[in-house]
Amino acid sequence: MIKNSIVYSSSSDYRFKLTKAEGVYLWDDQNRKIMDLTSGWNVANLGWNHPEITEAIIEQAQKNSYAPMWSADPMQEEYAEAVLSAYGGVDAFVRCTGGTDANEVAVKMARAATGRTKVIGFKDTYHGQLFAAMALGYRPEYTTAIQPLVPDFIQLDYPEDSAEGLVAFTATLEAALSGNDIAALFVEPGIVTGWGNCRVAPAGFMEVIRELTKAQGALMVIDEVGTGFSRTGSLFGIHRYSVKPDVVTLAKGITNGGGGMGAVLTTQALVEPTIPKANYTATFGATPLACAAALKTLQIHQRDRVWENAVLRGDQLMNSLQTALPDDVIIRGIGLEMCVDLSVYSKSIDGLTQNIQDQCFTNGLHIIAGDDETLQLMPPCVITESELSEGAEVLIETIKSNISTLNAS
Ligand code: PMP
Repeated sequence: MIKNSIVYSSSSDYRFKLTKAEGVYLWDDQNRKIMDLTSGWNVANLGWNHPEITEAIIEQAQKNSYAPMWSADPMQEEYAEAVLSAYGGVDAFVRCTGGTDANEVAVKMARAATGRTKVIGFKDTYHGQLFAAMALGYRPEYTTAIQPLVPDFIQLDYPEDSAEGLVAFTATLEAALSGNDIAALFVEPGIVTGWGNCRVAPAGFMEVIRELTKAQGALMVIDEVGTGFSRTGSLFGIHRYSVKPDVVTLAKGITNGGGGMGAVLTTQALVEPTIPKANYTATFGATPLACAAALKTLQIHQRDRVWENAVLRGDQLMNSLQTALPDDVIIRGIGLEMCVDLSVYSKSIDGLTQNIQDQCFTNGLHIIAGDDETLQLMPPCVITESELSEGAEVLIETIKSNISTLNAS
C-alpha cells in the first residue's frame, strides 16, 4: 500500500501510483499492467485516454478553452444541442462542474419551480458529496459529524426487486406524496450505481414514480451520472423505459475523463420561470474544452453503438459469474453495471471484500469493493470478449479461494 499524504480524496491510502492508462488497462509505477474493471467508477466507459477524445481536446485548446459565464462558445452550443437531442424530450441545458453540482442545481430548480421545499430520495444511494445531495440518500455514518444537512428531505427505502416489493413501494410513495407538498423525487433509472450495492428496481418502478409524481405536481429528477453513456445497455439509462422525466443530471462518463463537467437537462418551459428565483452560476461549468471532450465522447457512443457491447459483455460476465460461483453468491446488475454480493460470507470472514480486491490487484486485476459485502464491477463498455473472460477468470478464482473455507462446493 502506497501512502500519499498530500493528495486527499475519499481515502488517504492510495492503492497504487498510476503512471499510464490506455483502453482497459492501467499501469503502476512498477510498470505492472493491470486490467481495469472499474472505469474509474463509470467514467472511462470508452476506455482510458481514448485517442479521438485526446485529439478533440487538443484541437479545442488551440481555438479556445474557456468562455465567460455570461457568454457561450460555439462548442458549448454544439454540445448542448447534441446531448439534448440524444436524450430526447428536453430542450434546455444548464452548465455544471460535476455530478454533485448538477444534483444541487436540480434541487434548487425543483424548489424554485414548484414553490415547495420537500424532496424525496432513497436510503443508501449516492448523489454527491455536498449537503443537499447527501440529504437525498447518504449513509448516516458519514454524516453524523457534519450534521445538520438540509431540512425537508425524506429518504424512502429502495424497493425489493419483486412484484410484492413494487406493491409495498407504491403504497409508501402514495403516502409520501399525499400532502401535495413534494417538490421533487430523485432516483437513478432502475438501478443504484452510486453506492456499491447495485440494487436493481422491480419492473414497473420507474412507471409508478412517473405516474404518481405527475399526479401530485412533484418533479421527477433522474440522476444519470452513473447510468449515462452506455453503462446499462442503452445510451442513457432512461431509454430502457417509456418514461419522460422532468429534469436529468449528467456527469462522469460525459467526457470519458477528458475534463471535469456536469449538466442538467430539462425543458425551457420549466427552467425559465426559475431563473429570477435561483442562480445557476458555475465558473467552470461545461467549459468549451470539456464540451469538446464531451461532444467527441457522445459521437463515439452513437457511432459505435457502444451500448450494444455493454449488453453482450454484461450477459457474458453475468453468465460466467453465475455458472462458476456458488448459488448463495448473488450477482445482480444491468448491462455492465454489476455487483457480486458476498453478504452470506462476509459476516463470517473479516475483511472479505477488501481481501478479494487486494488479491485481484496482485493478480493484475483492478476491481472495487463497494462496501464490506459487495464488489462492484463497471468494466469499460468497449471491453472485448477475450479481455473480459481473462478478467472474469482472475476474479472467479480469487473469490472462490476466499470463500472456500466456508463452502464445500
Ligand atoms: N450521482 C451518482 C449516481 C454518482 O455515482 C456520483 C459519483 N459517484 C455522483 C452523483 C456525484 O458525482 P461527482 O463525483 O461528479 O460530484
